[in-house]
Parts: sequence; C-alpha cells; structure tokens
Amino acid sequence: MYPSRFRYEAPRSLEEASALLTQFGDEAKVLAGGQSLVPLLKLRFAAPELLVDINNIPGLDHHREDADGTLRIGALCRHVALERSTLLPGKHPLMAAAAPLVADPIVRNRGTLVGSLCHSDPQGDWASVLLALGGSIVALGPNGRRTIPAADFSLGPFQNALLPGEIAIEAVVPAAKGQVSGTYLKLERRVGDFATAGVAIALETSAGIVIRAGIALTGVGAGNLQATAAEQALVGRPLSEASIEEAAQLAAETARPKSDHRGSAAYKRHVVATFVRRGLARESAPEGVAA
Ligand SMILES: Cc1cc2nc3c(=O)[nH]c(=O)nc-3n(C[C@H](O)[C@H](O)[C@H](O)COP(=O)(O)OP(=O)(O)OC[C@H]3O[C@@H](n4cnc5c(N)ncnc54)[C@H](O)[C@@H]3O)c2cc1C
Repeated sequence: MYPSRFRYEAPRSLEEASALLTQFGDEAKVLAGGQSLVPLLKLRFAAPELLVDINNIPGLDHHREDADGTLRIGALCRHVALERSTLLPGKHPLMAAAAPLVADPIVRNRGTLVGSLCHSDPQGDWASVLLALGGSIVALGPNGRRTIPAADFSLGPFQNALLPGEIAIEAVVPAAKGQVSGTYLKLERRVGDFATAGVAIALETSAGIVIRAGIALTGVGAGNLQATAAEQALVGRPLSEASIEEAAQLAAETARPKSDHRGSAAYKRHVVATFVRRGLARESAPEGVAA
C-alpha cells in the first residue's frame, strides 16, 4: 500500500525542526531512520500531515563520553554505529551486547536508538537497555531543553512523553560509580526478529559488592519492564548463587507475558528466569559460580 499524501520538510537546524513540530502539533511526525515510521505510513496506521526529516541536521549522529564518563547518543546515531563502536565494548558491555541483536543488518544501517525509544514499541530492545542503565532522554522544544528519565519516557505502547513541538535529541547514560559489567540476552525465533523474551542486565560493583543493579525485560509485558525487586535483591551484597536465584525468580514474577505465536506465557517467564540466571552467573564466574 502507498502512504497517504503528506508534506515533507527537511530542516537544517533543530530550532527549525522544533518550530515545524510546534506549528503542526499532532499532525507532524519526526522522520529519523524511518525503519518503524515508514512501514506504519505504508500500512496507513499513521497518516501525518507533515514529515519532519531530521537527517540533514548536523551534530546528531554522535555517541561519545563526556569527561566524567556520561555517555551521550545523538538522535541520528544508527544502530550500526553502536554495533561497530570501539567505545562501547569494555566500558558499556550491556550496550555492546544489545547493538548486534536489534533487528537485522538492513534495519540497523538506518534505524536509530533514539528513534527506537521514541517509537515506544513494547518489543523494542533499546528501551530495556536504557532502563537497566538508569538512562534518560533529552528533549528540545518550544520551552527549551528538558531531561526525561527512561523510566518515565514510554507512556504505553507506541506513546512517549514528548510534548507537542518537542524533539528527542539525545539519549544519556550516566557515568558508572563502580566496576561495570552487564549483558543483553535475547531469544528470537530467527535472526532479525523481535524478542520472544529479552533481558538487559547492568551491574556496578565495588570491592566485590554490588552497588547498583539494573535489570529490564523485553517482550514480556505491555511495555519494557524494570525488574525493581530483582535489582534490589542484588544490591549491597556480593553476587552468589543464592542472590542470583532470588533475582531470577523475582524477575520472572515481574514479567507479564502473554501467550502468542512466539510462545506461551509460562515459557516466556521461564526464559526470563533463565536469562537472569545466565547473565548474572556470567558476571560472577570469576568468583566461582557456574555459568
Ligand atoms: C524488519 C524489522 C525488524 C525490526 N526488529 C527489531 C528488533 O528486533 N528490535 C527492536 O528494538 N527494533 C526492531 N525494529 C525497529 C527498528 O529498531 C527501528 O529502527 C526503530 O524502532 C526506530 O528507529 P528509526 O530511527 O528508524 O525511527 P523512525 O522509524 O524514523 O521513527 C519511529 C518513531 O519515532 C519517532 N521519532 C524518531 N526519532 C525521533 C526523534 N529524534 N524525536 C522525536 N520523535 C522521533 C517518529 O516520529 C516515529 O513515530 C525492527 C524494524 C523492522 C523494520
């Protein structure tokens, strides 16, 4: 099917883009990588009056660290740039693990992390990663800049917290205070599929004690879920078989999966527990917990 007729603008500055979005309100949509928006247009699930293509706006394709270790990912940073990043492995292991698991190489060439967050698909992988890392999204709008915690950014399936006229310009991951480890585990029916279930794990330890734990779940609820109780079970103690098992059970209880063509609810819950166990055991392997 062809999209409905729309007006197309490709501004060269954020101010111009924001002015267009403000003028057209709900009738305007930002076009970033187009990997989610274009299929929606073609299916006519979305029929905006105006597309604001941000691809000509300079200075948005970065992923870089500030001097204090804060990681910033610009609105035009493609999945592939994160997949091939030399910055992420070692310093940001969760992000490095997730990047190659998002969609397929064609989608990763154009799609963006920030676009994925804005799209707010409950199956989206990056939202779990940002949740686990305690990240945030920087928005620019008619009233200037504001920072929205990742936990508050998705308002439900395909709805985000941006106000009319606002554009998401950056995702931000705060600097770690301890030694960083983590991973992203995703079960997919075939390469390039959305998650049957996915688990993002981000740990910070100091002197062998977990000082921060982030665990978030993909594909097992009406949105990405932060497994808060599982996180709390890990903090303040060293990783052990007992704490890992407790976290795995609590994460599985947090999951709200539905049975569908990807698997039964019970199966998905089981996968969540297994992934939490596996991801954490990997981190504790040097201390002797079996992976
Ligand atoms: C075949 C296929 C498989 C996929 N598999 C996966 C998968 O396994 N896991 C996964 O997580 N995703 C998957 N996706 C989605 C993919 O990751 C998209 O790239 C991503 O969801 C959207 O990024 P984009 O830059 O293409 O955004 P676009 O498609 O351009 O935009 C998506 C939405 O976000 C809004 N938006 C985009 N950028 C901004 C911004 N800066 N400010 C405000 N609003 C903005 C748009 O207006 C639109 O509503 C898949 C997509 C396809 C086509």
